[in-house]
Amino acid sequence: MIFSETNHHPVVPEVEFKRLLRLPADYVYEEEMALNVAWTKTWFAQHSQPWVCAEVIEDFVIEGEVVQLGGTSLESRELAKRFQHAKLAMVVAASAGVEAEAEAARRWQDDEPDRYYFMETYASAVVESLIGVARAQLCAWADARGLALLPHYSPGYQGWSVGDQAKVHELVLRGGSLPGPLEVMSSGMLRPKKSQMAVFAVAPLEFAAQVDTALIPCKYCAHVRCEFRREPYALAS
Ligand code: SF4
Repeated sequence: MIFSETNHHPVVPEVEFKRLLRLPADYVYEEEMALNVAWTKTWFAQHSQPWVCAEVIEDFVIEGEVVQLGGTSLESRELAKRFQHAKLAMVVAASAGVEAEAEAARRWQDDEPDRYYFMETYASAVVESLIGVARAQLCAWADARGLALLPHYSPGYQGWSVGDQAKVHELVLRGGSLPGPLEVMSSGMLRPKKSQMAVFAVAPLEFAAQVDTALIPCKYCAHVRCEFRREPYALAS
C-alpha cells in the first residue's frame, strides 16, 4: 500500500457535519441536539476505529468509456474522462469502522432514533473526511513526482454502476490486506455501509494547468493549509 492507517480520526469540519444533518452552516444547535452532537463526537473519539488506505495501479488502457485498470474493466464515461491525460491511478478505501455501525444498530434497537441518526450522519462525515485525508496524502506523494491528482470518482456515482465496487475492492487488495474489515455484498453495497472506495487518476503537473477546471480538485478541496494547492485556487488567508 502507498499508505495504510488504522484508528485514524480525521477532523470533521462542523459545517460539513451540519450539511449532512441538512442544517445551514450558521445553525446553532438547540439544547437536546447539542447534547446528541456532543455525545456522538465523544463516542467516536473513544470507541471508533476509522481507517483509510491507498494503492497505486500503474497500468491502464482507455477504450471509449471503459478504463482497463490493472487489467480490470471499469465502465464509466466520467472516469474515462479523468484518465485521458493520466499517468497512473490511486485506488482508495476508507471506512468509519465496524464499531460505529454496531453502535448505531444498538441505538436503533434501544429505540433511540435521534442517537441512531446522529451516529449515522457523523459516520458519513468521517468517511468524507477520510477521503480528504487520502487526497492530501496522495497529492503530496504525486507532487514530489511532478504529478497532480484529479478528483476522485467512485462506483455508484452518476454513470458508474455500484456493481463495480467488487472490482475496485480487488484492486485495492493488490496492495495487501486492508487496515479494517470491508465486505462487498452481491448488490455492490459495502459493509460497514459507512465506507467508500474511490479511484483517482493522476496526471503530469503541466496537464493540471490546461485541464478543464472542473477536473482540478483544488477548486473544491477543503484542505485549507495545503502547500500544494494550485495557485488560481488559493484560499484567502
Ligand atoms: S488543495 Fe489541491 S493539492 Fe492540496 S490536498 Fe486539496 S486537491 Fe490536493
